Amino acid sequence: MSSDTIKMRDGEEALLSCSADDMDSAAAAAHIWSKVADRLREILSETAYNQYIAVIVPVSMDEDELHLGVADDFFAEFVSGTYGALIGEQLMAETGMSNFKITGGFSMPEEPIPLPVAETPGKSGEEDQKRETAVPKRLPGLLAKYSFDNFVVGDENMYAYSAARAVTEQPGIHNPLFIYGASGTGKTHLVVAAAHALQAEHPEMTIRYSSCEDVLNHYVESLRNQNGAEFRSYMRDVDVLIIDDIHQLAGKTQLQEQFFNTFNVLYSCNKQIILTCDRQPSEVQGLEPRLVSRFESGLTTEITAPGVETRLAILEALQDEQSISISPAVLTFIATNITANVRRLKGALFRLVAYASMMHCTIDMKKAEEILHKLIEEDRVARVVSMENIIQEVARHFELHVSELLGDRRLRNIAEPRMIAMYLARKLTNHSFPEIGAAFGKNHATIMNAMKKVPELCNANEDMRRSVELIERQLKK
Ligand code: ADP
Ligand code: MG
Repeated sequence: MSSDTIKMRDGEEALLSCSADDMDSAAAAAHIWSKVADRLREILSETAYNQYIAVIVPVSMDEDELHLGVADDFFAEFVSGTYGALIGEQLMAETGMSNFKITGGFSMPEEPIPLPVAETPGKSGEEDQKRETAVPKRLPGLLAKYSFDNFVVGDENMYAYSAARAVTEQPGIHNPLFIYGASGTGKTHLVVAAAHALQAEHPEMTIRYSSCEDVLNHYVESLRNQNGAEFRSYMRDVDVLIIDDIHQLAGKTQLQEQFFNTFNVLYSCNKQIILTCDRQPSEVQGLEPRLVSRFESGLTTEITAPGVETRLAILEALQDEQSISISPAVLTFIATNITANVRRLKGALFRLVAYASMMHCTIDMKKAEEILHKLIEEDRVARVVSMENIIQEVARHFELHVSELLGDRRLRNIAEPRMIAMYLARKLTNHSFPEIGAAFGKNHATIMNAMKKVPELCNANEDMRRSVELIERQLKK
């Protein structure tokens, strides 16, 4: 038995308060798969994970083989062929065994609804006809379920939600619509909901939803096949173009060039463009200024992390949607303790639900605490920003060495970042002025001075304000 196996058994027995032997084969499969899926989530892009891994269901666990299920044989073959080696490797790392099989015929708890995916509009009548009769492709996995109806609106996303609604009712009204916010705040959900609503309201339109990663893959493919026309058509022959996670354009100069041209063509024809990003356009390092200004030229709106009321409302909505029965007290417990983002919030709820169905029991507060204690601890750690994080993040942002930040040199390009680090240390941690002073080798008056000076600098200098905001956001992620 490998040490990984021992670790899993020891650690997780405590978490679920039952031994692996007690679990039936389905429960064991669910348990192991949740661990392996967590690992895959770390490795794969969000899109790949959502589309190909999140849709896999654990079926059973025989002596030395994990049986996984997906909707049909075709998909089983695809996932095995594409991710088989990776799944085997991670299964081995987690349990010390690597045998598994994936077969079709298992539906997800909820059947995805079809999303008509944009087809290239035809130039001739014949092609138009083909397009009309084309079987709508499915947007695999979770994306098919995202709609405005199951998007919970709270203070944090109200503006973005209204803007998304407005462009579905009147495409082109805010162009581009640029939605930004940290991971897990509902950006993908919102824009996919917009894609569904647009398609429902304007069946004649060609709506393209694509992750930035998909765009990149398409582009690379077009280079390989020397078929630039196909790529241009993919991007431009649309009525609405939605690109998710546009920050992934950073540093990809050729693709940015292509995207710039696409943007101009679509914009000049008043075709709606919707973009999501993990930060404001101007804060994406390695994005050409001309793209930044295009992206900022329409409506830019932020989704911030959900507050406790929204978190509770999301849990309640999920409970209704999926007919889950968890007591209000336990829901409040989750909403209060899992704060990082909605993805983790949903993960916590589903973990409890999985436990309840595995063990055929109801979840009381004590059990909820037991099962979620690891998640809650991770959440707490993520929330506590340390002085060390701040120093490292400020150094990274301004491309300085930590030693320069902590040193004495008074060059402006070092002294100002140093002040920012002191300011953020006071703002984001519970350390006192003398403690922060000690960390920087300064007296506490210097820190007090930084507290006064940094806001002044931010008021006077837009770049400085953006830098401080960006660093702060990065630290809270
Ligand atoms: P992002 O794209 O910002 O990283 P996602 O859209 O993928 O975030 O959201 C993560 C998860 O949280 C998804 O399962 C999504 O359905 C859910 N979610 C996020 N915000 C909401 C909301 N306001 N209402 C309902 N579900 C939400
Ligand atoms: Mg997303």
